[in-house]
Amino acid sequence: MNEHYPFVNPPLPYAYDALEPFIDKKTMELHHDRHLQTYVNNLNNTLKDYPQLHSSTLEQLLYNADKLPTAIQKSVKNNGGGVYNHIFFFNGLSNSDTRSQAGSLYTAIIGQFGSVDRFYEEFKKQALSVFGSGYAWLVLDENGILKIVTSANQDTPIVKNECPIATIDVWEHAYYLKHYNDRSAYIDDWFRVANWERANKLYEKCLSDNLR
Ligand code: MN
Repeated sequence: MNEHYPFVNPPLPYAYDALEPFIDKKTMELHHDRHLQTYVNNLNNTLKDYPQLHSSTLEQLLYNADKLPTAIQKSVKNNGGGVYNHIFFFNGLSNSDTRSQAGSLYTAIIGQFGSVDRFYEEFKKQALSVFGSGYAWLVLDENGILKIVTSANQDTPIVKNECPIATIDVWEHAYYLKHYNDRSAYIDDWFRVANWERANKLYEKCLSDNLR
């Protein structure tokens, strides 16, 4: 994806049907080609008349959203967040089983939550607790503590200086075609296709960024 305006919708790093049977092809097509594309289009439309923002990265726009011209603050938060969150979510899925490749993140999860099962139980509880639309995240906070947090709508944890490691999109559009209203089954399936190798790389990057 472009670092700055005009933002583009990057292709998925795997085939639309790569996550079957856990996440179905049609959901991935609609989610990527329509939902994410709409956020990209809306973000570009919002920024069109603000050339002074055309060299800002997505992270800079989100991080400084409250300092942007009032007329576009909300749209940048919603649509910029939609772009950021979706790309992060899609890049965090994998068609191969990466559960044994979590490296030092695995050790840190055991240290923080006691066991993978306890971690998952807590992650699932938080993901189920999102009222309406939003996300659940595994993040590293400023003090180097692993935390599970939730965000509403298209808010992102980066604005709270929480470094994202893994996320699940729990908007209904992410699962309704296959799982109907059963968010719990979708979360179980997400856990199976979450890319724990990538999550570990992000965890190590978050740790080293914290030391700067
Ligand atoms: Mn979504």
